[in-house]
Amino acid sequence: MFEHISGPIHFLTSRTFDSNITFLDCGDKQVLIDTGTGVNAEHLEKSLGRLDSSMASITDVILTHSHIDHIGGVAILLEEASPKLHLHKAEADMINKGDMSLTLSDTFSARLPPLKIEGVLEEGEVVQFGDLSLRVYNTPGHSIGSICLEILNTGIMITGDTMFPGGSFGRVDFPTGSPQQLVESLRRLSEISFEIALPGHMNAIRHGAQRSAIASYEMARGWFKV
Ligand SMILES: [Zn+2]
Ligand SMILES: [Zn+2]
Repeated sequence: MFEHISGPIHFLTSRTFDSNITFLDCGDKQVLIDTGTGVNAEHLEKSLGRLDSSMASITDVILTHSHIDHIGGVAILLEEASPKLHLHKAEADMINKGDMSLTLSDTFSARLPPLKIEGVLEEGEVVQFGDLSLRVYNTPGHSIGSICLEILNTGIMITGDTMFPGGSFGRVDFPTGSPQQLVESLRRLSEISFEIALPGHMNAIRHGAQRSAIASYEMARGWFKV
C-alpha cells in the first residue's frame, strides 16, 4: 500500500522487479510518477483504491525514464484511461518515432503498445499539478533521458534510478548509460538542498537525503574513477 509522505504525496515501495511508484493526489489532477512493469497492476489498483483513487482516474503519468520496470504499467493504464504521458525529450523523441529500444522491452520480452508522449520535458522546466510544482533536472548516466524531480517547497526529491539509499546509484551498462554522466548528475544532485528522497527502487529516504546524495556521489566517483 502507499505510505503517506507529505500533503498530497504518497509512495508505493515495490518488493519486486517493479519500480517504486509515487502518487500525487491533486484533486482534478491524479498523477503517477513511474508505473512499475504492469505485472502487479492489480496491487496498484487496490493501493489507489485505499486513497479513493483508481487507475481509471489517473490524468498524468511522469516517467523518470523509459525502462520497462517504470513504463510497463502505462500499457495497463491506457486500457482504462488516457493519461497524458510525460518523459524527458531525449527519450520521448525516440518513443514518439516508434523506437522502443531504450525501454528494454525486447530484452525482457514485455509487450508495449506504440506510445505518444505529449509532455516532452526539458531541463529546468517546472510542471504544475494543483498546488504542487515539480522542477525537472535532466540527470543522465543511468539513461540519457533520466530525470530527477524536485517538488518545490517540500524538501522532496524524486530520484528515479539515478540515486538510491545507502550511497548507491543506478547502473550504467544499459544503452545510453554513461559512468561520467552519472557521476556528474550525482554531483549536481548533491548540491541541491533536500531532506526526503523518493528513489526508483529501494526504500524512501525520510531524513538527511542530501547527505545521502553526497555519499552516492562520492561512492560513484570512487567506483568509476572519474
Ligand atoms: Zn528501475
Ligand atoms: Zn532504469
